[in-house]
Amino acid sequence: MFILGHLGFGTRLAQGQIKHLPRKAFWLGCLLPDLIDKASYYTLSWSTGLQGAALPLIHGTRSLGHTLIFLALCWGLSRYKHPFFFKALTWGVVTHFVLDLITDQCTGLPHITGISHIPLLWPLSGAFPTSPHPSLSHHLLSIGHPFFIVTEILGAIALLKG
Ligand SMILES: [Zn+2]
Repeated sequence: MFILGHLGFGTRLAQGQIKHLPRKAFWLGCLLPDLIDKASYYTLSWSTGLQGAALPLIHGTRSLGHTLIFLALCWGLSRYKHPFFFKALTWGVVTHFVLDLITDQCTGLPHITGISHIPLLWPLSGAFPTSPHPSLSHHLLSIGHPFFIVTEILGAIALLKG
């Protein structure tokens, strides 16, 4: 899924949990794992000229932001400061993980998205998954797949109704 899919389906998935939480913080959480990891990977790739497994530690667009450690950090922050903001953010991250897992496991699309799994259990699960995309533009072309088009449209409808 992409932006509207994560926002729309994520809102539907967590609607019972987020009624009294700030919606913008929740939506930020819905997108945050990808915002962090895609920015990290492509920044590293551009700055070093390296790609995929040639990069140290971060080999693709699912890394630290897609781990249970990151989720625990978000949840932990809700215990100390701005509890409503960080609870909403945490629920958004939870829905992001669920929707990534559904996308990967139920649609058979990892060969198109280029990612074999989300590294929830990192570092226990080993190295982060490697991106096969040679560039950001190549990666963005995968958005043209019918699955992404349909989930973006349905996500937008879910947002409008929600
Ligand atoms: Zn993701």
